Amino acid sequence: MDCLCAKSKGVRMILCSNPKAQYLTYKSEIDAAISQALDKGWYILGEEVKAFEEEFANYIGVSNGVGVGSGTEAIHLALASCGIGPGDEVITVSHTAVATVAAIKLAGAMPVLVDIEPDSFTLDPNKLEVAITPRTKAVLPVHLYGQPADMDLILEIALRHNLRVIEDCAQAHGARYKGKRVGSLGDMGCFSFYPTKNLGAIGDGGMVVTDNPELAEKARLLREYGWAERYVSHFHGWNTRLDEIQAAILRVKLRHLDEDNSKRVCLAEIYNRELNTTNLILPKQREDSTHVYHLYVIRSSKRDELLTFLKERGIGASIHYPVPVHRQPAYTRLDDGRSLAETERAAKKVLSLPMYPELSETEVYSIIKAVKEFVL
Ligand SMILES: *Cc1c(COP(=O)(O)O)cnc(C)c1O
Repeated sequence: MDCLCAKSKGVRMILCSNPKAQYLTYKSEIDAAISQALDKGWYILGEEVKAFEEEFANYIGVSNGVGVGSGTEAIHLALASCGIGPGDEVITVSHTAVATVAAIKLAGAMPVLVDIEPDSFTLDPNKLEVAITPRTKAVLPVHLYGQPADMDLILEIALRHNLRVIEDCAQAHGARYKGKRVGSLGDMGCFSFYPTKNLGAIGDGGMVVTDNPELAEKARLLREYGWAERYVSHFHGWNTRLDEIQAAILRVKLRHLDEDNSKRVCLAEIYNRELNTTNLILPKQREDSTHVYHLYVIRSSKRDELLTFLKERGIGASIHYPVPVHRQPAYTRLDDGRSLAETERAAKKVLSLPMYPELSETEVYSIIKAVKEFVL
């Protein structure tokens, strides 16, 4: 998320992601939606949120959506709705946004970190079973960079051990695994609408989706003080709500999500075709699933030099993520001695090239030209 600087020494940068460009694309629709939401005079959990919850759940292919304050809170709420808390373990990856792990800690549970598959950067199902203990309650795969994790194997192992599966879909709005959208595969799916995500608000927002009516009901109560009716708490809950203005904006952008994802795929295809002849390792797409390219992530053995080279040419490449969660000061205690070799390797080599729907083909070709100058 460190790639939003608009200018460098007065020179126009090509940003890594560009939420303002997206606002300008849909400006008249968004401005009208905001103004309507303001006129309604009901600013929290009103008609816009209810409509957006229904539309987004329908888009994902499940029956319930619960709008919340952020992606982190979506994961926290999903875990709490499943009754997961202190004394419980939740298995996830270290190669992810820190929010995934922070949300498990927020729920009071213990994150257990396993390694990733080198090609997809997602949770390696072969590393899952050995990490399961009697305290394990859930698996939390992350559909990283826009690509689904290997869900069949994960679901099969979870079923055998009676574990919940909670999907972190914060980077993969609209991606499909064997025809089904991510978020509809496990017990609950968690989305972030942070401005740079494939579906981004103009502020914070998130959603939990599920086909399970009991889990949805629990999530609805917990997000607002455990209220079943106003002012009467049935559970110990807290406050994590999506607001009306953000919901109104997200309803506009949801209508354009598939089209915007297609633009990302087009740009990724250009990168793939043109960089194919270099010694860079390009993203690999899993068979039977789609990739929505939240990020276009290559690997280079000279990553840091390439990053500097591109920055000097006004290209805002970025690293997702430079330090694995178990190496960050707050979370070194989560390093339980398990091998995270692929995670460590990825952190040293990954580089995200600019990627967002409004990025022009001309800009992509200029990025490719600069990359080739460095690597050839
Ligand atoms: C963005 C992100 C989150 C957190 O979302 P916020 O809305 O910023 O709280 C969680 N997981 C992943 C993988 C993310 O990319």
